[in-house]
Amino acid sequence: MRIAIVGAGPAGLDAAESLNEKGYSDIVIFEKSDRAGGKCVTVDHLGKKYDLGAIMVGSGYHRVLFHCNKYGEKTVEGPYHFIHEGDLTQGKKVSLPRGVLGFLSLLSAAWVVATNFQIRKKPLSELAFKQFYKCSIDDFFNTRFLARIRHMFAPITAGCGYGFTNTTPIIYLLKLVYLGLPRSTLSLIKLLRFKLSGRRGSLYTPMTLENGFGGLLQKMASVHNIHYNEGVTSISHKNGVVLVSTNKATYMFDRIIFAIPPKDALAVTSKYSTSVATLLKQTRNVCYFSALIHVPVAEKLPRGVYFDNSKLSDKSKGKHATTIKLYDNDCGLLFYGVGDDSTSAKSSAAEAVKDFIISNYVGLGIGSDSVEEAIESSSVIEGAKWAYFPHVNPEELHCHYAMIESLQGQNKSFFVGEWPGFACVEGAMENARDVVKRYF
Ligand SMILES: Cc1cc2nc3c(=O)[nH]c(=O)nc-3n(C[C@H](O)[C@H](O)[C@H](O)COP(=O)(O)OP(=O)(O)OC[C@H]3O[C@@H](n4cnc5c(N)ncnc54)[C@H](O)[C@@H]3O)c2cc1C
Repeated sequence: MRIAIVGAGPAGLDAAESLNEKGYSDIVIFEKSDRAGGKCVTVDHLGKKYDLGAIMVGSGYHRVLFHCNKYGEKTVEGPYHFIHEGDLTQGKKVSLPRGVLGFLSLLSAAWVVATNFQIRKKPLSELAFKQFYKCSIDDFFNTRFLARIRHMFAPITAGCGYGFTNTTPIIYLLKLVYLGLPRSTLSLIKLLRFKLSGRRGSLYTPMTLENGFGGLLQKMASVHNIHYNEGVTSISHKNGVVLVSTNKATYMFDRIIFAIPPKDALAVTSKYSTSVATLLKQTRNVCYFSALIHVPVAEKLPRGVYFDNSKLSDKSKGKHATTIKLYDNDCGLLFYGVGDDSTSAKSSAAEAVKDFIISNYVGLGIGSDSVEEAIESSSVIEGAKWAYFPHVNPEELHCHYAMIESLQGQNKSFFVGEWPGFACVEGAMENARDVVKRYF
């Protein structure tokens, strides 16, 4: 059987691997850009690897860790030992809740997760939808015995670009479930060993990849047949075969798997049925950008990840960072922000660094006469911008998932990857594997 995969991001590459595991070998991946990896982009700066897109690997990342093992890629500790809420000089450290009530709160959270998310098999259970899809993050924490742990999640959720805690559906926290929770006895033992080893610890077992996500995905890509610079533009059907048209040619396949952001996949297939058109209307994206900045004075700041949600407003779109990551022993800062189509990642980052140094030079320990010098010695190394966080109105979310599921297999087409609730590498890969397992 000849199978086309659209997109060489984590979902497309995993779909190809999963098909190989099942014995399929006649597979072509079409990738519109000149590189594999999708929203995983690794930049080399002064001998260190920085991930501009996906960066963090949680202890629940089974599929990612499986590929790391297969391709000889190692995990290393990330900058997640300390999570701060607020900006770089005022940020307050977010810590685990204390006392008996804090402990009960954590147990309550574990119970909610254990009883509602069938994490290993499917991303969400029906019950989870019924309970949570209309519930905002604020309501969720306020109406259950969870108020004491709310502070741990709120800055991260909003700072990661998911939006304000009073309007964002709690269902989007599923990503954090993937990122942070051990999903097997082995990963639980690893997490406990890490916590008990006396090393600095925070909410997660903090890991990144030694060569970045880019390192892993490039290796995965190297064993597959990928047509680079060949974007799929339309699909049609004739005599039982799928005709795939790209910017270069038209090909015949028996099946097609869309492993591209839902909005793009639905746009290509919009003529299929009215339900595809409805899905397309329900899907929106947020423009998210990131940049790697070299700021020599940053060496003096406490390490960790800073979520500054006060900057997350319509007014400040494209102007300020919502998230900044600081690594040990270097001056490389990763800067994240929310913008719109007109936002330039590089110039927004440059502007934010300037603002930041001007308003915080006292906290940074530099004299007023050195401010200009500090700004001049800072530079933006690389920037990138994506349509990210496929968002669907909470009221439409349940039918959205059900409609995607009902489309699987129609017109010999399958949809995998980054769906609204779990926009992360593990979620995209696991979903691709699950669809291949169930339909091929
Ligand atoms: C700033 C940022 C930080 C993130 N942090 C994390 C993190 O810490 N941990 C984590 O797990 N995840 C993180 N993510 C999310 C993660 O990167 C995505 O969820 C994941 O990359 C989705 O994989 P995908 O294969 O579904 O889609 P993508 O990565 O978007 O890949 C899709 C691919 O399809 C190609 N394509 C699109 N349209 C066409 C077409 N018509 N024809 C051919 N090719 C096409 C694209 O060029 C791209 O290569 C982050 C993302 C961003 C942007």
